Amino acid sequence: MSAGQQFASDNNAGICPEALAALVSVNSAGHAPGYGEDRWTAAAIERVRETFETRCEVFFVFNGTAANALALAALCRPYHAVLAHRLSHIESDEASAPAFFSGGAKLIPLDGAMGKLSPLDIEAQVADARSVHHSKPRAVSLTQATEVGTVYSPSELRAISDAARRNGLHVHMDGARFANAVASLGLAPADLSWRTGVDVLSLGGTKNGLAVGEAVIFFHAGLAEEFAWRVKQSGQLASKLRFITAPWSALLESGAWLAHARHANRMARRLADAVAGLAGVKLLFPVEANGVFLDLSLGLQAALRGAGWRFYTFLGETGCRFMCAWDTAPETVDRLAADLTAAIAAPASARGARR
Ligand SMILES: *Cc1c(COP(=O)(O)O)cnc(C)c1O
Repeated sequence: MSAGQQFASDNNAGICPEALAALVSVNSAGHAPGYGEDRWTAAAIERVRETFETRCEVFFVFNGTAANALALAALCRPYHAVLAHRLSHIESDEASAPAFFSGGAKLIPLDGAMGKLSPLDIEAQVADARSVHHSKPRAVSLTQATEVGTVYSPSELRAISDAARRNGLHVHMDGARFANAVASLGLAPADLSWRTGVDVLSLGGTKNGLAVGEAVIFFHAGLAEEFAWRVKQSGQLASKLRFITAPWSALLESGAWLAHARHANRMARRLADAVAGLAGVKLLFPVEANGVFLDLSLGLQAALRGAGWRFYTFLGETGCRFMCAWDTAPETVDRLAADLTAAIAAPASARGARR
C-alpha cells in the first residue's frame, strides 16, 4: 500500500476510496444530463452550503489554477491589481493565468513572515498606489494553509480582511489546502472563510483525495454574476460534471475531507518530530498543516534522492519541501526519517557531498 509513496506533493497520491466509490456509483447509474444539470451536482452544491453554513454560490472547475484565475478575474477589471504573497501559487506557479483571464490585472507580490500577508503591508501597498499611473489595488489573495505549511488564525484573517475592506479590496482565499487548515485549527469552515471576511474561496479537492476538481465558492451572490460564462469560456465546464461533483459530495457528507486532512497533518507532524532534532537538519517553519520544510545541505539532498526519495527544493538551494497526503503511511514517514538519519551518520565523502 505504501510502496512508491513520495513527498514531492500531496497531488502525487491517488484517488481516495470515498471518491473512487462515488465514481463507480455515479457511473453505474447510467445516463444523466450533462453540464451540471444532474442530481449529483445539485447535491454537491447543497453539501458545500451545509459545510459552510451559508447560501453561497458554488462552481466546479478542473484545477486550482483555473479556480484562482477565474475567481480573481471575477473580482478585477484589466487595470486592477491583486496583492498576494511572493510565494503564492498565483504569483509563482500559474503562468500568469490571473492576468490572462482578467484581461490584464497585475499581481503585486508582498513579502511576509511565515508565508503570510500582513495588514500593515497591505495598507502600505495601497497607500503607495493611489495615482492613476498605478494599477488600482482591487483584491487581496491569501493562501490557507500557506505555501510554507503554516495556517492563518481567525484573528489574522480578520485583521487582513478589515484592512482590505478599509481600502476597498475584495478578499480571495486560495484554499488548495483549506481542509488541512480546518483540520489543523479544529474550527468551522465558516470561521476560516466568510465569517472572517473572505469573499471568494478556491476550495481544493484534488490534494484532498479527488481525481480532479476544485470548487469556487462565492460568499456574496453579486460577485458570482455571470461566473458560469467565465467557467465555460475558459474550457473549465466539464460536460460530465457529475464525475467531479459526486466525489465532492462523498467527501463532504462523510466527513472524509477532514479525516484525510487530519491524517496528512498528523503524518507531517510525525516526520517533523522524527527529524527536527537531527544534527544538520533545521525546521524552517512551524508544522501546522501537511507540509514539512527542512533546510538540508546539498549532500543530504543528494543522499535522499539517491535513496529514491522525491521532494522539491522550494526555497533557495537548501530549503526542501516534504508534503504528506491523505494516504501517506506512517511507515513511509519512518523510512524517510531513517534514510535521513543514516545519511547524516554517513561520512560526507560516502554521500558524495558537494559541500
Ligand atoms: C496545488 C495548488 C494549487 C492548484 O494547482 P493546480 O495544479 O492548478 O491544480 C493552487 N494553490 C496552491 C497553494 C497549491 O498548492
